[in-house]
Amino acid sequence: MRKTDIVIIGGGAAGLMAACAAAQTLKKKGAVVVVEGNQKLGRKLLATGNGRCNLTNMNVSSVHYHGDVNAIGSLLETYSPEFIRGLFREMGLVTKADEEGRVYPYNLQAAAVLSTLRSCAEENGADCVIGSAAISVLKTKRGFLVKCEDGEEIEAAKCILACGGAASPKHSCSADGYTFAKDLGHSVTPLYPALTQLVCKGKLMKSLSGMRCAVNAALLADGKPVYEEGGEVLFSDVGLSGICIFGLSVYAAEFFNMGTVKGTPHKTLGVSLDCLPDWSFTEITAYLNEVRMHFPNRMAGDLLSGLLNMKIGYAMVQSAGIDVNVSAKFITAAQLQKLASIVKAWHFEVTGTKSWNDAQITAGGVPLREVNAVTFESKKARGLYLVGEMLNIHGDCGGYNLHFAWSTGHAAGKSAAELRS
Ligand SMILES: Cc1cc2nc3c(=O)[nH]c(=O)nc-3n(C[C@H](O)[C@H](O)[C@H](O)COP(=O)(O)OP(=O)(O)OC[C@H]3O[C@@H](n4cnc5c(N)ncnc54)[C@H](O)[C@@H]3O)c2cc1C
Repeated sequence: MRKTDIVIIGGGAAGLMAACAAAQTLKKKGAVVVVEGNQKLGRKLLATGNGRCNLTNMNVSSVHYHGDVNAIGSLLETYSPEFIRGLFREMGLVTKADEEGRVYPYNLQAAAVLSTLRSCAEENGADCVIGSAAISVLKTKRGFLVKCEDGEEIEAAKCILACGGAASPKHSCSADGYTFAKDLGHSVTPLYPALTQLVCKGKLMKSLSGMRCAVNAALLADGKPVYEEGGEVLFSDVGLSGICIFGLSVYAAEFFNMGTVKGTPHKTLGVSLDCLPDWSFTEITAYLNEVRMHFPNRMAGDLLSGLLNMKIGYAMVQSAGIDVNVSAKFITAAQLQKLASIVKAWHFEVTGTKSWNDAQITAGGVPLREVNAVTFESKKARGLYLVGEMLNIHGDCGGYNLHFAWSTGHAAGKSAAELRS
């Protein structure tokens, strides 16, 4: 049996940051052991930010988080984006922010983030045990006993659960963390997939698949806007995707799982896209009138092709109920106005969100009232810590989720190493 001071289950973002913080404090070979069930550490980390790893955001604040948000004020105060960038700089990784505040490694390689964390943990004496998942975690008199798939047993005074969530299962060896937490006395709120595509009703979706457009997107609950976000929308064969849609999906996930949006019950959900945010309705109508006047024989389907992505413009003409093959000269003023109104507010009925396989994050998890929100030590089992996606917090798209993983991992790792059991 291997004996150690701190065992960390999960070698992902939060677990590796916890390992760095604990090992830097203890500075003793083998005092920290990371157990990772995958054959490689940080598989999900490598996939983040399309391989570039959007590791934090200069605009971090509680408005970008959902779940038990009231509990994380002090965490976000201590772990500012500057602090997180400073931690990485001290480990040798330089970062840079883009115009929207998203922070990436300077070389835009997620692999560099992973390599930095692993090096820092191992250089300070941590051991990484890879390729054999933990199958049980027991509380004992001396601390914790972790049993692994390959039969190895690890005894430790402290245990940090950093097993991640249920989203994107192809990157994670299991979603066992919730079971371990329950076995050790914790509860888990209902879980649902967040930061994912919206599934929409409509015949047009297939023809638009792969098209992109800069929009203002509004989420409509019972026809009324409840949340808006600007950015690029990506049409897929089943619905809408893209960063701004991910922002909306957080509330859509709530609606399809709880029947509420921001805590208020609603019956229907829709999305309205303003596909020309810089143009007014009047300007678009004037443009369409001009096209009709100067090019009377142009096909109706091409009315918007001088202004918008051609396939998107064509689909809007169809949405307006205009025959795409008719000549422009036959289109009425009322039809042109209808088309202009669709450009400004293209409505899609949302029927669901995509599943766990396509989600970037888990909404729900272990409630924060069950942990000390400064050290992330469990209030149910002394010496146990819970960090990262396992907790009932999820962030917006833009680096907020990794920020939470680093912050909780670091707080727990440092506390576990500093406090005697
Ligand atoms: C495609 C994709 C892109 C993303 N991009 C971004 C981004 O750019 N910015 C951002 O902020 N967030 C992003 N996220 C979200 C981000 O990856 C997560 O918030 C973050 O990884 C959570 O960290 P974690 O350590 O809690 O969990 P994870 O990183 O998932 O790590 C958990 C680890 O625990 C291991 N494990 C689980 N059970 C066991 C067990 N029983 N025994 C041993 N090991 C176990 C898993 O294999 C895994 O390696 C993205 C997510 C996805 C899926």
